[in-house]
Amino acid sequence: MKLALHPEALDTWPQPTPQAPWRALVSGCLLGWHCGVDGSDNGMGQALAAMLRLPTLQLVPFCPEDHALGTPRGTPDLHGGDGLAVLAGTARARDEHGADVTDAMLAGAAAMVAVARAAQVQFAILTDMSAACGSQVISDGSRFAQPRRYQRGVGVATARLLQHGIPVVSQRDHATLGRLRARLEPGFLPDPNALDHHRHPWVVANLPEPRG
Ligand code: SF4
Repeated sequence: MKLALHPEALDTWPQPTPQAPWRALVSGCLLGWHCGVDGSDNGMGQALAAMLRLPTLQLVPFCPEDHALGTPRGTPDLHGGDGLAVLAGTARARDEHGADVTDAMLAGAAAMVAVARAAQVQFAILTDMSAACGSQVISDGSRFAQPRRYQRGVGVATARLLQHGIPVVSQRDHATLGRLRARLEPGFLPDPNALDHHRHPWVVANLPEPRG
């Protein structure tokens, strides 16, 4: 389940406390891990800093690409579909040099699920646009292609997490993250104008939802 599509699910979870916090799997780069393809944190280390410091949230960081491919590494992107299509065998992951890294991406995804299940996380907060961690929008083919193309869809690790019933939200799902933080921090007032990534005007204009 993508939490941004079903944010009401958050209202059914027990109130978190410092003694009984919610447990969340988190993309390592969102916690400042230098696990990006170039050894940086993808500029993500402070993206959700205030929320990720709350005592009502226990974090389980992981990077599926670093786990399977090491850092630095080539830049994987998905060709022929999204992460669900990779799991179905109808799409592949390749780096910018054309090397097929599908097996490594699947191994990283499996390891991420194993970590998530061992820690009994309730949900995952993952970095969108990644061929592993993306959950709303990812590249359609190599991100270095000109013009760059995008697709609505999930990364390979996200696809596996969803298959195992672990809800996912991205760092760009601002409306749902606000609702989530209000549960974690009673008294926090979410921005009523915040939008989730799939409702961002650029996404709506450029990546129309499939009909039917
Ligand atoms: S695979 Fe996920 S955790 Fe690792 S750098 Fe990419 S977005 Fe961050």
